[in-house]
Amino acid sequence: DVTATKGNEFEDYFLKRELLMGIYEKGFERPSPIQEESIPIALTGSDILARAKNGTGKTAAFCIPALEKIDQDKNAIQVVILVPTRELALQTSQVCKELGKHLNIQVMVTTGGTSLKDDIVRLYQPVHLLVGTPGRILDLTKKGVCILKNCSMLVMDEADKLLSPEFQPSVEQLIRYLPSNRQILMFSATFPVTVKDFKDKYLPKPYVINLMDELTLKGITQFYAFVEERQKLQINQSIIFCNSVNRVELLAKKITELGYSCFYIHAKMLQDHRNRVFHDFRNGACRNLVCTDLFTRGIDIQAVNVVINFDFPKNAETYLHRVGRSGRFGHLGLAVNLITYEDRFNLYRIEQELGTEIKPIPPQIDRAIY
Ligand code: ADP
Ligand code: MG
Repeated sequence: DVTATKGNEFEDYFLKRELLMGIYEKGFERPSPIQEESIPIALTGSDILARAKNGTGKTAAFCIPALEKIDQDKNAIQVVILVPTRELALQTSQVCKELGKHLNIQVMVTTGGTSLKDDIVRLYQPVHLLVGTPGRILDLTKKGVCILKNCSMLVMDEADKLLSPEFQPSVEQLIRYLPSNRQILMFSATFPVTVKDFKDKYLPKPYVINLMDELTLKGITQFYAFVEERQKLQINQSIIFCNSVNRVELLAKKITELGYSCFYIHAKMLQDHRNRVFHDFRNGACRNLVCTDLFTRGIDIQAVNVVINFDFPKNAETYLHRVGRSGRFGHLGLAVNLITYEDRFNLYRIEQELGTEIKPIPPQIDRAIY
């Protein structure tokens, strides 16, 4: 239960009064377990490796200490938050801005797919906290426009994803630009063993937080429905995952043809278009979103309570991140998996790996469970 805490209060951390105001105005009454564990340790300057399930408040667990540590009178980038996607960068910067509403901290977002020139111009203005994807931040740093010598805190959100081959080289190069007194905070719901080498090299003695003992998919009822490929089209709700860009486009087209409203988003779309779709979905302008795994990591939209795996994912990690889009911060959620004959072994394997149960779908789904 994400609300079962040790009973700490945000006042216990001696935060700046303006920060405390931002926290309460955002509607947070008391810290969640991951926040109780992380905030005091991060404030001591220690490295952290933190694992906690989806939707338990990891963002504020690093944003609060980051905002607390920044000296707003010092014109320098003091914190960098690395994330794997542009959408997550925007969402995270939004959280920083809201929590820091009464502080005078300048937050900048930078990611690939946007104008490098605009970013360079922006960096002439004060920036205290930079949120972005590794490649772009590295570019700006190499060009000498982004200066990290005063950046004493590096946050890696969705850290295991940032250590995939796509990002890891940039992350490692970036770390070389940080001062020797830097602290690194790694957060994720999943830490495969492949993270170990990186951890040993860059944060050999981190404070380890592991709040994964409880069942990862608690609060989310999961069903599977055996279907034939063509029957998949009779279902239509919330976030719908497909395994490829082509399938996303085809499915979105079919759903629209059937007369339902639906948007889609995938990595091959232009960034402007992606932003617009994401924004509209967030605001509830559109009820159904078809997407690839681009959308899975870290995205927090509380209104999403149903996730449909139109195509069943290939591995447990992807499953966890997709299905974790529902059931945010203790809300209930529903996941429906469309399973074809070819998927059956995958279904059993993922169930076992996650220690969870995916039941056959009943004829009627009780509204009270999601
Ligand atoms: P995670 O990164 O662990 O998946 P998020 O940081 O996206 O989770 O937070 C999930 C949701 O919980 C967000 O909507 C956030 O506003 C909310 N939340 C976080 N911390 C608290 C808190 N202390 N009290 C109430 N709501 C919170
Ligand atoms: Mg997150």
